[in-house]
Amino acid sequence: MAPSDSHTSTKALHADDYLNLVTDVAPPIHLSTTFRFPKEPENLLPSQDPVDEFDGKNYVYSREFAPNATRFEAVLSSLLKGHAVSYSTGLAALHASLVLLNPRRVSVGEGYHGSHEVISVVSRLSGLEKLPLDCSAESLGAGDVIVLETPVNPLGTAFSIKEYAEKAHSRGAYLVVDSTFAPPSLQDPFAWGADIVMHSGSKYFGGHSDLLCGVLAVQRKDWQKKLFEDRLALGNVMGNMESWLGLRSLRTLDIRVQRASESSGKLVAWLHEALKSSTEDTSTDKGLVRTVLKGIHHASLQNEPWLREQMPNGFGPVFSIVLQSEEYAKVLPSKLALFQHATSLGGVESLIEWRALSDGRVDRKLLRLSVGLENWEDLKNDLLRGFKALVEGMQG
Ligand SMILES: *Cc1c(COP(=O)(O)O)cnc(C)c1O
Repeated sequence: MAPSDSHTSTKALHADDYLNLVTDVAPPIHLSTTFRFPKEPENLLPSQDPVDEFDGKNYVYSREFAPNATRFEAVLSSLLKGHAVSYSTGLAALHASLVLLNPRRVSVGEGYHGSHEVISVVSRLSGLEKLPLDCSAESLGAGDVIVLETPVNPLGTAFSIKEYAEKAHSRGAYLVVDSTFAPPSLQDPFAWGADIVMHSGSKYFGGHSDLLCGVLAVQRKDWQKKLFEDRLALGNVMGNMESWLGLRSLRTLDIRVQRASESSGKLVAWLHEALKSSTEDTSTDKGLVRTVLKGIHHASLQNEPWLREQMPNGFGPVFSIVLQSEEYAKVLPSKLALFQHATSLGGVESLIEWRALSDGRVDRKLLRLSVGLENWEDLKNDLLRGFKALVEGMQG
């Protein structure tokens, strides 16, 4: 078992040691949906409270608890500093948080478009009212919810968690933080007052673009119990293969996120510096950037004291650029060799996306970049070659 003062990278490897029931060093893959009851008739006890009765070993049926997912959740609980519950997808996790809290009003920013789809389904069922993120505190009441996404999709810019926690709590409302863009060890929303921390685990927790998953973490044990009970009832559990892949991926979470965030910071700083220069000479790198780019967004460019405290170890691997024209934005992805043109983020492969393809609300000149684990200078050269091809293509 990892000593309690262990660092994130150590916990990621040892927080589930107590659930290792075999001598294998690598976790076995458990695929069974159903598990044998005890052999001794005197040990057969009709279930009263499946969640309370679960001890990490007495599995019954995998919609309730399953070995791979339990180990995955044990590591996540340690990393997120709360009780973690896993779901089939990030949106299933967001839905579960709204089912748990059942607010009358939800205040939410632009952010990820799918989160609005979840809210509109819940609104259809319960009459839930949607308010903007900047609504007045007075428009919220006890039991209402603020959903704060930070850093926010697709820009990669950040909001103060503390400010929104205070706003929610001043009215007896709750703060749910979608921290997908800043997994541990970039950001700890509980430290700034979050009541529920949500992640799309399809991104950094999975980390290899090959599994869907969502996670909620809560500090109240009674909330975790309710979340497990609701999950058993609604059936939105992860698959056994996915949770095994997720556990394997968490082992390297810290090192992946640190490296990708560092590389992203370097790329953003380089582009930002070039944007500030005055040369328009496209035979120079700076002139090329200036000719193609109009703007860049990332938390690393926000000069606010609270942000250095909220994100002390880096500002996340996702940033976005605004090009000089819609045509440039549409064409650039096809000119790149390393950045692949695809939606989603958080994998080891760097991705770029003309965001208009997925989200009709955003600027059609905007491209979202998710930096992966390629060498950052290779990524820089990939962008430069792409910019060059754009300029040449448009002249010809
Ligand atoms: C991807 C994403 C989601 C949705 O997650 P799924 O796993 O695709 O359901 C929610 N919030 C943010 C910020 C995301 O990036």
